[in-house]
Amino acid sequence: MKFNFYISLKIVTTIFIACLVSLSGCSSSKPVAEFHETVFTMGTLVEVTIIGEKSALSEKAYAAILDDFNYMHNTWHPWKPNALKRVNSLLKTGASFPLAPSILPLIKKSQILSEQSQGLFNPAIGQLVKLWGFHQDNLDEIIEPPEDSSIQVLLKQLPKMSDVKFKGLSMFGINENIQLDFGGFAKGVAVDSTIEHLKEFGIKNAIINAGGDLRAIGTKNGRPWRIGIRNPRGDGVFAAVEVSGDESVFTSGDYERYFESNGKQYHHIIDPRTGYPADKTRSVTVIHSDAATADAAATALFIAGPEKWHEIAKAMGIKYVMLIAGNGDVHMNPTMAKRIEFIIKQPVIKLSSPL
Ligand code: ADP
Ligand code: MG
Repeated sequence: MKFNFYISLKIVTTIFIACLVSLSGCSSSKPVAEFHETVFTMGTLVEVTIIGEKSALSEKAYAAILDDFNYMHNTWHPWKPNALKRVNSLLKTGASFPLAPSILPLIKKSQILSEQSQGLFNPAIGQLVKLWGFHQDNLDEIIEPPEDSSIQVLLKQLPKMSDVKFKGLSMFGINENIQLDFGGFAKGVAVDSTIEHLKEFGIKNAIINAGGDLRAIGTKNGRPWRIGIRNPRGDGVFAAVEVSGDESVFTSGDYERYFESNGKQYHHIIDPRTGYPADKTRSVTVIHSDAATADAAATALFIAGPEKWHEIAKAMGIKYVMLIAGNGDVHMNPTMAKRIEFIIKQPVIKLSSPL
């Protein structure tokens, strides 16, 4: 996920779509309200769609989740002055300080996910992400990758999420290199929390799509939501998948945030084992019930690559994975393969054993 800037682009459209009995299975021909808005927040364009509610309710719910997004964006931004920055500066000192309520849920959840991923998803490596230059808005300013010697210095004492300790109502860090950067799953946490907020308003059919990463509840006029998965090489849609009920679809790709130096691209998903951008994968798509887990897993499986994704997916409790390898082969587990429809020409498929 990208936290590069914040512009509020508000496009308000409340559309009434004729509910055709033959297509959607609706019992009357009354129009079904479709509320649709797009806003730029958390470094990406977020589309909110709510189906079948009165427009006043949808607008009220949308205003509430917009506040949520703004709060989370401001509080969790990895390099702006905020609560996270304060926590990071205190963690480095090793001294005990009061639990930070705005950051605590992220720490607790990511400690579990990081452990499950065997440390591949590691939000404690903010210093490494920063060393690569990804803690700035404009990546065009980066001329070259960091010195290998600087990477090796950080790798020697690489922080882990378990280096954040708790004692009663206090917390402290035990590694002076620790720097929390939740860029790998904050978008998922934000999508979960805003979907829960929509549910509190009584909304049953909605989708929150944050730049192709989304959680959908209910259906779209009685039919599943159809989701496009981006082609990691070139424009257009690589594959489509249908979701309904309550499911999240998250993709991590090497095309999201990167800089170029001497004709080589360096992207922002760093392998904590090597200190370098993970280089075996083009993209990974994960379907899971909660968005935070899907987001963290997409990042972890991207790093795990074609050899190790199955083992890590199992450990993280993930049931649907599609990994597009560096050579273009598509690795999937059988239940994912049943759900995926390729839009571009059929790729080489490597089917795994079940998850
Ligand atoms: P995207 O959805 O943009 O493809 P990800 O969800 O994979 O990206 O998150 C990438 C971001 O996660 C980076 O910008 C950085 O902030 C952070 N990050 C990079 N490497 C790791 C890692 N190994 N573990 C956890 N977070 C990481
Ligand atoms: Mg992620």
